[in-house]
Amino acid sequence: MSDQPVDYHPMWAELGLDLPMHDALLEAVGGMYGATFMSQTNRPEGMGYLDFVMSEVHGLRIKELHDFRKAGGKVVGTYCLYVPEELIRAAGAWSVGICAGAEWAYDEVEQILPRNTCALIKSMVGFKLGKVCPYLEEADLLIGETTCDGKKKAYEELGKLQNLHVLELPQMKREKDLAFWRSELVDLVATLEELTGKKVTAESLKVAIKEVNDKRRALQRVNAARAADPAPISGLDSLLAVQVAFYDDVPRFTQMMNALADELEKRAADGVGAAAKGAKRVLITGTPMALPNWKLHELVEKAGGVVVGEEMCTGSRYYEKLVDEDATTIDEMLDGIAAKYLDINCACFTPNEGRIDDVIRMAKELGADGVIDYSLQFCGLYEIESTSVDAAVREADLPVLKITTDYSAEDVGQLATRIEAFLEML
Ligand code: SF4
Ligand code: SF4
Repeated sequence: MSDQPVDYHPMWAELGLDLPMHDALLEAVGGMYGATFMSQTNRPEGMGYLDFVMSEVHGLRIKELHDFRKAGGKVVGTYCLYVPEELIRAAGAWSVGICAGAEWAYDEVEQILPRNTCALIKSMVGFKLGKVCPYLEEADLLIGETTCDGKKKAYEELGKLQNLHVLELPQMKREKDLAFWRSELVDLVATLEELTGKKVTAESLKVAIKEVNDKRRALQRVNAARAADPAPISGLDSLLAVQVAFYDDVPRFTQMMNALADELEKRAADGVGAAAKGAKRVLITGTPMALPNWKLHELVEKAGGVVVGEEMCTGSRYYEKLVDEDATTIDEMLDGIAAKYLDINCACFTPNEGRIDDVIRMAKELGADGVIDYSLQFCGLYEIESTSVDAAVREADLPVLKITTDYSAEDVGQLATRIEAFLEML
């Protein structure tokens, strides 16, 4: 690493980004990051790594992808937890989760998508139409999935602009659904092999399974430490760790998260907190919070609470379950990958009772005083599922606050008032 600031504009120009708009986006995200993260006190030292990664989010990491591709490597972009990173790595490609956590180019987006589409989908399309996302432009292939209707249809539009493979995801979890899902993964392997010109072998898949499981294990350790009172790390910093996990280099990220976990375990043993001892502890469940969506965590923690867990795709659903590591043949490994990924509890499944069990279990394990049930506006799946999730949380004697919002700052004042009242009531 050099101390000299590097000018990445030539690389961004080579990628075809809209440079003035991209500069504006970087300035806005950099400003938000400074105001949200750097104003926190008593942060673990290990967060220095994530601060650095974020300061180079469109710089050094993009250069790594750029150099990898120049040397013949392939980059695959994903939008959902159901896309197995193990298969991408086993085919010799690198996986990056594409951010969709900020409003961008909505005027253009609303030319092709209805206004009442969820913010995540609008952002996903807006970053492409606005030419401001270098990860998208580095992606040789995007992988979509048939999760919700909005995403499914939005992928048809994205597919007009970029090389796209769509995985068909079943919406139930019966044996026949698992068999179908496995067959979809076999097709994905063929697409990836064609893209990279490399075969997925038992050896390469075994290594990839272990590497991605190790990343999950490191995040499990970071998140388990949050059960301590005082919480040794803020919810904002923990959320950031999972957001970065989607696109950082896998072995390096794992090593840095294990170092962070060492520090957090020591802080927990010594009673050192990022939040005050006795601060009201909140578990958040719901739709994912893609980078740079930090709105809800910031509001809770600015109001004096602390977020101790996230039952969501940018949370426990990402790291809790592991792929079986004992398999030796490709067929057995594909069985294990299919089973692990179908076991994710997204609201696009029916029934989705596993999610309710997870919310109650996590609330107990992490000592939560209350639950915030978070949905992005116009997400029918999560908004409707709220009815049964919230009833189950109340039945478990935990207060619950339902919040439906988007990426704009318009409702921040009103949300702050509701969150403060909720924390006072806990
Ligand atoms: S909430 Fe569902 S659709 Fe969205 S990223 Fe998670 S698994 Fe995918
Ligand atoms: S938040 Fe809901 S509507 Fe939006 S992409 Fe996810 S599942 Fe679909």
